[in-house]
Amino acid sequence: RMYRRQMMCRRDIDVFNVPFLAIYGSLIPPEEEKLKQKKLVALLEKLVSKEWPTAKLYLYGSCANSFGVSKSDIDVCLAIEEADMEKSKIIMKLADILQSDNLQNVQALTRARVPIVKLMDPVTGISCDICINNLLAVVNTKLLRDYAHIDPRLRQLAFIIKHWAKSRRVNETYHGTLSSYAYVLMCIHFLQMRRPAILPCLQEMETTYSVTVDDIHCAYFDQVEKLSDFGRHNKESIAQLVRGFFHYWAYCHDYANTVISVRTGSIISKREKDWTRRIGNDRHLICIEDPFEISHDLGRVVDKHSIKVLREEFERAAEIMQNDPNPCIKLFEPY
Ligand code: ATP
Ligand code: MG
Repeated sequence: RMYRRQMMCRRDIDVFNVPFLAIYGSLIPPEEEKLKQKKLVALLEKLVSKEWPTAKLYLYGSCANSFGVSKSDIDVCLAIEEADMEKSKIIMKLADILQSDNLQNVQALTRARVPIVKLMDPVTGISCDICINNLLAVVNTKLLRDYAHIDPRLRQLAFIIKHWAKSRRVNETYHGTLSSYAYVLMCIHFLQMRRPAILPCLQEMETTYSVTVDDIHCAYFDQVEKLSDFGRHNKESIAQLVRGFFHYWAYCHDYANTVISVRTGSIISKREKDWTRRIGNDRHLICIEDPFEISHDLGRVVDKHSIKVLREEFERAAEIMQNDPNPCIKLFEPY
């Protein structure tokens, strides 16, 4: 019994802070990579403005939300007011414009769920996806970036969780597992729920930033520089948080009845959202509410097979964090 109790609360967890932080450090993109990205965006802006002088380009996703690891592709959104032109037409035209320059492998994917132009810049070696008018993604990118500025432990935790998810192949939405965006929301929510809390709920605070995109009103407190000591009463270390995160998703989350919600900084009921039964392809087996598009469950890609895979991976990770002599290696062993 004594033995069991000791196992349940491993004492040496903090010896893993240094190796976890080293992994985090090795994943951060170097400054020169950021400069190359900026150069590519500047080139794209130049090309696009010839055809559409009032159009704007925005970076979104991991290259702009501060959760991007080294050597990621970049996500770009072209904001354009061509109300009368079909998206697929714009995509084709855009591909044409870019093709004529020195860019390589320009492909127009007009039939994808989100139509995009894909390309590679031979000068910088960076690949890039350009979508049209997906401004909600630009706004949720800002929300994630703002959360990252409040407490450094969020970025550390999210890098480690994303690295784990990629190593274990549970970051593949086309195979029914979760997007990087979903994992970052899970990390934010986990830190909102710590006691004392490590992150606030920005959408419940006074509005200092607001935009309406596709009829969705997005509002929250974005003066995050004023919140830089928010988490000071909570002294949990990165190793403790990684263990806690997996412990939560392995043993504590009520998959049957609850939804995690960054918007409210709390756990809400499936019943309240009417996410209790399968509708079409949305099975709601793990529920993660989008902070702005609140009818959108980021877990909707998960099916009855992949939920098993996912939960077994959470349990494997929780077990490793609890008992393995070498969690910083074992956790990321390729699947
Ligand atoms: P990675 O490092 O794996 O490329 P990423 O942050 O770019 O990570 P993706 O899952 O590729 O994450 O998503 C890119 C961006 O698109 C997200 O940051 C988010 O703004 C938006 N996005 C992705 N999936 C959704 C979704 N299901 N609903 C709303 N927005 C989404
Ligand atoms: Mg991406």
